[in-house]
Amino acid sequence: MSLRVFNTLTQNNEPFETVQPGRVGMYVCGPTVYKPSHIGHAVGPIIFDTVKRYLQFKGYKVTWVVNITDVDDKLIDEARAQGCGVMELAERVTASYLDALRQLNVTGIDHMPKASETIPDIIAMCRRLIDKGAAYVSGGDVYFDVSKDADYGKLTRRRLEDQQAGGRELAGGEKRNPGDFALWKASKPGEPPEVQFDSPWGKGRPGWHIECSAMSAKILGESFDIHGGGMDLMFPHHENEIAQSETCFDKPFVRYWMHNGLTRFNTKKISKSDPEMRRLMDQLILTNLLSNHSGEMLRFFVLSTHYRRPIEFSDEELAAKKKGLDTFYRLFDRIQRVTGHDPYAGGPGLDAAAPETTSESVRAFVKECLEHRDRFIEAMDDDFNTGGATGVMFDLVTTINRFIDTEKLESGGDPEAKQTVMQAVQTLRALGGILGLFEKRPAAPASAGDALVDELMQVLIAVRAEARKAKQYALADLIRDRLSTLKIKIEDRPDGTTWRRGA
Ligand SMILES: [Zn+2]
Repeated sequence: MSLRVFNTLTQNNEPFETVQPGRVGMYVCGPTVYKPSHIGHAVGPIIFDTVKRYLQFKGYKVTWVVNITDVDDKLIDEARAQGCGVMELAERVTASYLDALRQLNVTGIDHMPKASETIPDIIAMCRRLIDKGAAYVSGGDVYFDVSKDADYGKLTRRRLEDQQAGGRELAGGEKRNPGDFALWKASKPGEPPEVQFDSPWGKGRPGWHIECSAMSAKILGESFDIHGGGMDLMFPHHENEIAQSETCFDKPFVRYWMHNGLTRFNTKKISKSDPEMRRLMDQLILTNLLSNHSGEMLRFFVLSTHYRRPIEFSDEELAAKKKGLDTFYRLFDRIQRVTGHDPYAGGPGLDAAAPETTSESVRAFVKECLEHRDRFIEAMDDDFNTGGATGVMFDLVTTINRFIDTEKLESGGDPEAKQTVMQAVQTLRALGGILGLFEKRPAAPASAGDALVDELMQVLIAVRAEARKAKQYALADLIRDRLSTLKIKIEDRPDGTTWRRGA
């Protein structure tokens, strides 16, 4: 079977055929960098990093672009609230985002263009759309005229009348049609000069949608292969990207639209004002998650579900996935014990052409392992079904463990069988590598995962609570301050005191 990809545009699982033979251009909408990223912002990068790895495994040369939106109303408001510069805020949030991606082993992004650095390309595209009569200037703004795009709405299958009827923005004022959207926005009085860019229409800044059209065309060309993003971006963002790009360049914009499911939180019936909700939202901030779980664990968590399905996020689910991941770690430890070799040091995987002299049981083992490998590839060929692929990896672990048992390799056993089992584990690691897993020995989690540390922390928290009850505030503060120098933060909440690592 060859690779098939579910295309949101056609709602079909289609054979994968690229614009240029052997090459793939892939664009994924990136973050607006104004507040700390939460786990939802990492789901897309983990999924598309894996898509890239699999395409490379299939022999494609892949160029992957993720944009950074560093000019936006939200940034301007947040910078004002924090009393800092817009670019300063953008740089700070971007750095923390990139650090999180590194910990999640998202290594495949080739270009991360920033909106603020793409202004000339955005202006050129606006001008071309105006020249074609598809966009118009109103005040210092430039709007795209949706009525000039005959197939507007094709991604989400909505007709223009529908969204005019249901559109929240009212007609009149500055737009010709309620569905028209801004390509360029005139600067408002009082906005920081660093987000006021010169244009033929006066000082202003780009709208959000045009950024992605301009950046993708600049780096990947006017027609490219894969455009990804969360399902929440389908309308209006992706619909507008299609309208702008296809009207501007008179070419099909993207071959395959891939949309990942959204993260769902196990919030039960908690209202937003509830402290429990605040605790949950806090916990979902990437830097907080990564101080309690390894990047590999979070990556495994995301990839255990098919990318188009929602990801259910809860402490129970995390615990279950951690248990699953430990199954692999235990096997790697066992292999080290059995063979005396570090599985992370690498080595050859299994070869289908087992020599004639090989024993019956070794040959049967190799055959079974290679069948698992084929099933892994089948799963990935079926629209990057990473959930199915991780399931196959568990089967491979079971097969390897059973072979170690039946061949009694823990207490000696046949050297050839030992060598074969080592190769089987390298095959497992190679499959893991396609998912971005098991490339290196997991770092001890910088975390609350260590049971003894957690127990000791509970002792300290209890002592501190007693001290406060006895009004011995100096002692209570001493405990908190000394922990703080160890970068351990104590948090008092209405439902009790918690702790976490990190400044
Ligand atoms: Zn976008």
